[in-house]
Parts: sequence; C-alpha cells; structure tokens
Amino acid sequence: MSDAMADLVIVGAGPAGMAAACEARALDLSVVLLDEQAASGGQIYRNIESAPADRVEILGKDYEAGRSLASDFGNSGARHLRGAVVWNVGLDGTVDYVESGRSQQVAGKHVLLASGAMERPFPIPGWTLPGVMGAGAAQILLKGSGALPNGPVVLAGCGPLLYLLAWQYLRAGAAIAALVDTTARSAHLRAMPHALGALKGWRDLVKGLNLLSALRRHGVPVFTGASSLAIAGEKRVESLSFRHRGQAVRIPASLLLLHQGIVPNTQLSWSTGAKHRWDADQLCWLPDTDPWGRLGETTLYVAGDSRAIVGAQASAVQGRLAALAIGERLGVTVDTARRAALQTELKRHSHIRPFLNALYRPTDENRIPQDPGVVVCRCEEVTAGQIRRYVELGCLGPNQTKAFGRCGMGPCQGRFCGLTVTEIIARARSAAPGEVGYYRIRPPIKPVMLGDFVP
Ligand SMILES: Cc1cc2nc3c(=O)[nH]c(=O)nc-3n(C[C@H](O)[C@H](O)[C@H](O)COP(=O)(O)OP(=O)(O)OC[C@H]3O[C@@H](n4cnc5c(N)ncnc54)[C@H](O)[C@@H]3O)c2cc1C
Repeated sequence: MSDAMADLVIVGAGPAGMAAACEARALDLSVVLLDEQAASGGQIYRNIESAPADRVEILGKDYEAGRSLASDFGNSGARHLRGAVVWNVGLDGTVDYVESGRSQQVAGKHVLLASGAMERPFPIPGWTLPGVMGAGAAQILLKGSGALPNGPVVLAGCGPLLYLLAWQYLRAGAAIAALVDTTARSAHLRAMPHALGALKGWRDLVKGLNLLSALRRHGVPVFTGASSLAIAGEKRVESLSFRHRGQAVRIPASLLLLHQGIVPNTQLSWSTGAKHRWDADQLCWLPDTDPWGRLGETTLYVAGDSRAIVGAQASAVQGRLAALAIGERLGVTVDTARRAALQTELKRHSHIRPFLNALYRPTDENRIPQDPGVVVCRCEEVTAGQIRRYVELGCLGPNQTKAFGRCGMGPCQGRFCGLTVTEIIARARSAAPGEVGYYRIRPPIKPVMLGDFVP
C-alpha cells in the first residue's frame, strides 16, 4: 500500500474507527488508521489487548467484548499508525500528524473522523483544585495501568459512566465514601415519555439497574437529587458540600471524581470548516452530515461519538456504514442486504438514547456557573464573571472572548471550555446557543512543537 494516497485514512482506533477499517478492508480498500494512543481500543476498550486477565475481569463483560473487534482490526490488513497525534485534516484528504517528535503526513481519497468523545466540563466552585478530576480520567488510569485511589473516593455528578466506574471500583476493592447524584427529580419526569422506547433497549436498562443494586449491596451512601455543589479546600480538595432533600450536607473528600456525561470531540470536524448545529437534547455541537456521516460535499466522513453520542455498539455500526458509503463512492459494489442489516442494527442500538439524553441531562447550574469566580477556561484562567463582563462590553460569541481575555487560546484550543463559554454567553445575551456559535477552530488542533517540523 502506498503512503501517497490510501483509499481511506481513519482518525481514531475506537469502535467506530476499528469497525470502519475492518469493513473497508473487506471491500479491499487500502486503509491507514492513526491514533494518538499506543494501542487500539479507543475509550471503552482502552488497552484491551494487553490488559491482564484480572483487570479485564474487574472492568466487566462490555470491556472484554472489545477483544474480538480489536483482534479483527489487528488482522484486517489496515495499516495502524500508533502514537500518531493528528493535528490537521485538510479538505484534500491530507492528514498531518506528529509521531515520535516528527510531523508527518498521509493522504486519503477519503478520510473518516472517528475521534470519539470527551467528558463534559463540570464547572462548579473549586473544580480546579488538586484532588478533583474527571471520573472518565480516573477510569483511563484504571484501564491503562490498573491504578486505583489509595483512599476512599467521592463520586459526584450523573450519567451511566459514573455508576459504571463506581461498580468497577467496588469490584477492584476500592472504597467509595459516597456517590452524590445530581440527576434532578424533574429529569425522571422528562424521561418518562421515552421509557417505552427505552424498553426496546432493555439490556442496557438491566445493566443500569445491576450497577445500582451493586452500590446498594456494598452499602455505598448515595445522595440522589443533589444540588448546589461546591468543592472546598486550601491547597487541595478537602470537602464537597451540596444540598440534599432540603438539607445542607458537607462530606470530607481527598479525591473527588466529577462526571456529567460525555460530548462529541468535534475539534477536527470544526477545523475543516464543516457546518455544525447545536443539539438541544445532548446540549452540544454536532457536525452536519448526511445519513452515512459525510460532511457536506467533501470526501470527509464522521462516525461514532464524534458525530453524536450514540455509545460503543452504535459507533461501530456507524463506522461500518461509513466504510460502505466510501467503498461505493470508490466504485466498489456494496452488498445492499448487508447495509440494510447494519441499518437495522443501528436502530436497535439507538432505542435507549432519547431516554438517556432526557434522564441524564446535566442541570443548568452545573453547566452554566452562576458564581463569577468559577474558572471556565482552565488554560488561560478566565472566569465565568469575566466572560459575562465581556458580554456587557459587547462580546457576542466565543470567538470574541479570545480578543477580550485570551479565553480558549491555551494549549487545549478551547476543547475543554468551548461548550461552557457558548452557554454562558447565550444565557447572558438571552440568545440560543446555536445563534451564539463556537470558537473558530484552526489547526493545529493539538499542541505541536517547532522541533516537530525539523527534518
Ligand atoms: C473517558 C471516557 C471513558 C469512557 N468509558 C466508557 C466505558 O467504560 N463504557 C462505555 O460503554 N462507554 C464508555 N465511554 C463512551 C465510549 O467512549 C463511546 O461510546 C465509544 O467508545 C465511542 O467510540 P468511538 O470509536 O466513537 O470513539 P472512541 O472510543 O473515543 O475512540 C476515539 C479514538 O480517537 C483517538 N483520537 C482522538 N483525537 C485524536 C487525534 N487528534 N489524533 C489521534 N487520535 C485521536 C483517541 O485516542 C481514541 O482512541 C467513555 C467515554 C469517555 C470519554
């Protein structure tokens, strides 16, 4: 296979990227897949091929299920560029990446962006204190190296991943001091109309109920419907306070893991100039694609959680469907029965999504900080109060906050603060987030060093 122009270049070795690679190879397309991680698997199956048996047992069957896809991908004949940090994707199919301190380029007749999701920011007072981190980040440590907290841990927020991590920690013997659930009571009512549809995805519902009952069996204190969260500490986290059933509660914490769902990692699709729209159900930006994931009239496609949060199984199916569409564009005859079967499978995996979106919709107070001192842009230390002040001075959208106070101009390129900045400005302007817009994302979307360009 020539490096000059592969049929398909894929960014991301998660379920979407790996499945797309397998499908494309089955059509005899040449495939190059890049991922910044050293191993395939993406978020859910991180490290699946080298994790020791006892860790796989702790992480559970859904994790173990990734082994066959990773192995199929490994045997597919796709070229896997490991440790390749993609910093630019061009409309002409060129993909720039840094690997081992050197910037290099591959090119594809088509490019599939399968860059997955990231944790939604949780900007509450004290969230930048040492000892506070994302539950997803803690799970990465567990999957990657088996690292466990060295004392009782407090988990706070909402969403399936929070409960999954609690369950995995309990299986690993880690102590959980408390789980503070911010799912509002009103969310249960909002989710009700979607309950019937969710029953079609009953397997996922059963899994969720099992996680809850495991917490109960282990006697973990669970505070449901918690609000007004604030983290306190001098040099590092010391406590979490919140309101629960009308009472003020304060619990000590030396390690606090926050989580309120995941959102698509759209930096790459934004950087190509593609159109995005605000999704009011998932409260985030989604790239505008055709049903197969194609961005406008380009040769670029998006699949998996970077297109919309759909979960691992639906991500894999989307990857396969995108590969079929790309194959067809390259003149390969595609088995229509296979495509129809994949579409049916995708539907089946999607039944539960509206229910999850409604039930685990993060509350306004945990997304749009009222406390003016809460840091929003962590790289440049810009606070919620400063952003609202910019609006008073005439700032209309996230892009302009850069000129006002370097908001979003740090190493993460606004990846971490972008959604919060959009929503703060929208609220301050009494405008819709879609009207306020997002940062103009330009390459490099990941930090690169000048030395990376030295031949
Ligand atoms: C921290 C975290 C933990 C999660 N854990 C679970 C779990 O345990 N169980 C579960 O059911 N769901 C979990 N999810 C949700 C799960 O990730 C998705 O449903 C599923 O993995 C999506 O698959 P994907 O292929 O779209 O993306 P992902 O699996 O996220 O894969 C995307 C891949 O793209 C790579 N990538 C991204 N940007 C670049 C770049 N610029 N250059 C090179 N490579 C890049 C990443 O390294 C990653 O390997 C988790 C999500 C997150 C954010």
